[in-house]
Amino acid sequence: MAADDIPNAALPAHSVAEAYLYLQFASCGKCGKSPLQADGQLTRGKQFFELPARCKSCRDAAMLIFDIQPEPSRQSAQSKVINTTSEPSQLIDVHGWLAMFQQIISASGREQDAVASRELVEEAAACLDEALKFYRDDSEIPPPDAFFTDAGRASFRKSPERYTRATWMRRRLQLPVDPPALPTAATSDKRWWQFWR
Ligand SMILES: [Zn+2]
Repeated sequence: MAADDIPNAALPAHSVAEAYLYLQFASCGKCGKSPLQADGQLTRGKQFFELPARCKSCRDAAMLIFDIQPEPSRQSAQSKVINTTSEPSQLIDVHGWLAMFQQIISASGREQDAVASRELVEEAAACLDEALKFYRDDSEIPPPDAFFTDAGRASFRKSPERYTRATWMRRRLQLPVDPPALPTAATSDKRWWQFWR
């Protein structure tokens, strides 16, 4: 998406954290590749939040426009809580969350520092929690609309068994991280999406 090609519809995000995570999946308007990288701070525009970004491959600039609901507070903007609602993401599909989970959990295994490793496990767990939100009622597989990217649809067609709910529930229970509580005081640690100074 080029900066002069902003769609009318802003991207719906549940948090500042989710908006930044979306950069991993956003594709370049020029070369079509992902990811994009933040190229400045997220700022509050007239109506929406604006995040300047750049394609990691061809460096083309883009401006991502987010409609963040609930409206972030100074505290929630610095939190790593992705989505306090039970509603699944509209930006990153079930395939994307599971891919991120696996990537981050592998990184946690390679991390030597115990504190850093623990933080990665927490972030991975948060991604898995987002993936699990797509499963409805007692359904063992996600509904078709849980796959809204080409990569997600292709992956599901190829290996539907990969998406069995029981597998991911079991994986979640193995993680030493409690399921998300409702947000309380934000932690003071530095997050890369901090934009209030
Ligand atoms: Zn590009």
